[in-house]
Amino acid sequence: MKNRSIQKICSPVTPHFVGDGFRVHNFIPSAPGLDMQRMNPFIMLDYNAPFYFPPSATPRGVDVHPHRGFETVTIAYKGRVEHHDSSGGGGIIAEGDVQWMTAASGVLHKEFHEQEWSKQGGDFQMVQLWVNLPAQYKMSAPKYQAISNSVMHKFFLEKELGTIEVIAGQYKDVEGSASTFTPIHLYNAKLKKGAPISFNFPSHYNTALLVVEGSIAIQDKEVPTNHFVLMANDGEDFSIVALENALVLVLSGEPISEPIAAHGPFVMNTREELIQAFDDYNQGKFGTL
Ligand code: MN
Repeated sequence: MKNRSIQKICSPVTPHFVGDGFRVHNFIPSAPGLDMQRMNPFIMLDYNAPFYFPPSATPRGVDVHPHRGFETVTIAYKGRVEHHDSSGGGGIIAEGDVQWMTAASGVLHKEFHEQEWSKQGGDFQMVQLWVNLPAQYKMSAPKYQAISNSVMHKFFLEKELGTIEVIAGQYKDVEGSASTFTPIHLYNAKLKKGAPISFNFPSHYNTALLVVEGSIAIQDKEVPTNHFVLMANDGEDFSIVALENALVLVLSGEPISEPIAAHGPFVMNTREELIQAFDDYNQGKFGTL
């Protein structure tokens, strides 16, 4: 089997605020070469690198807004987020947890720092990933998967060298916790210093790594914290070595070979469907919250 090579290592782009609660580096689609079609089915990745929020009686975050045509995946590393949506979903996403929300035909939701955490303040670190849906599922019913760390499926490396949290897809004999509409592998790889680990994905799957903590070596290139690695689609296997204790988000997914029409919180296939989404939203068809 041919090795997969590195296409590009991206340093963190200039951060911006989403609402007043998320200070994010947007890698997908803002970083050069990481546009929606290249990374499809991963069409957006916001990374809130560790950032200290002082105590606040009023939780910071993003107030009510719609989504249609895709899924939002929130991965909490530090801090806690409280979420509510118009389909009745909601809950608290705490450290180590993942929330997989299928917006599909449309939800309204809001995302705020959890009340008690907000009062204390602290270091906050999260990823929000948008996963595209193929045309046949864009208008299916909304769905919500709360995956707390305690129930997340895990693969344990030998000699206690680390843990692979299999959020979705499969790693060796461990099935992912989330159900997905198209083939996706999504892991948090928690590695001890010196731990080697290898991955194998079909060569046409769009594949990337985000180094969330520590640093790694991959094909004799060093990748520091908060950097994003885009892998080429030229092979199946690649391995990484943790240069210090590290946490790496690993993404690999089968591309959805369809046109992408995206505007703000809607990701559809055509401009007409986008206009329809705005019309439906303005007419209150996304429900109430
Ligand atoms: Mn949202």
